[in-house]
Amino acid sequence: MEFEDISADIESVVLTKEQIAEGVARIAREIERDHTNHTPLLIGVLKGAVMVMADLARELRIPLEIDWMAVSSYGASTKSSGVVRIVKDLEISLEGRHVIIVEDIVDSGLTLSWLLENFASRQAASVRVAALLRKPEAMKVDVPIDYLGFDIPNDFVVGYGLDYAESYRSLSGVGVLKPSVYGGS
Ligand code: 5GP
Repeated sequence: MEFEDISADIESVVLTKEQIAEGVARIAREIERDHTNHTPLLIGVLKGAVMVMADLARELRIPLEIDWMAVSSYGASTKSSGVVRIVKDLEISLEGRHVIIVEDIVDSGLTLSWLLENFASRQAASVRVAALLRKPEAMKVDVPIDYLGFDIPNDFVVGYGLDYAESYRSLSGVGVLKPSVYGGS
């Protein structure tokens, strides 16, 4: 489904498919420069990172491996609490590996901060972070992002992997949902 097909539910477009592709390509070139002599292990956090992982992995012109983690946040459902439970752990050992965490969006930064702490005990050679989107105004903890696509305003966005109640993940762009969709005015 194209972004335009569902524009009735979208209040404003934050990033088009073309802008996202440019951002992903830019991130890929930066990762290639830092990973000339080893095979990085890309780790995606399900489910939001599926689209960016698929595009980034195919854009990278270096050998790489992919693994996935699924986590769930304790506490309030819409806001990250920073207290995370592993629902599906990694299958590949991090020992001695050059790891790149691939994130769809860094909002409060709490999930990423928890992941970095969790990975610190797993003996990786290096751990870097690639994030397509960041909301600087929403960040509660200062987490380093080595490869960043775009800073965006502090609005709830959907598309390109990001959902509202499991919908809109397949949109090719990123946009702000109309408040009427989630019961607002
Ligand atoms: P954190 O607040 O811990 O940085 O963000 C955790 C997760 O909340 C993100 O990985 C993402 O799944 C979700 N999230 C944060 N901001 C948004 C948003 O604007 N839209 C959607 N759909 N999910 C978001």
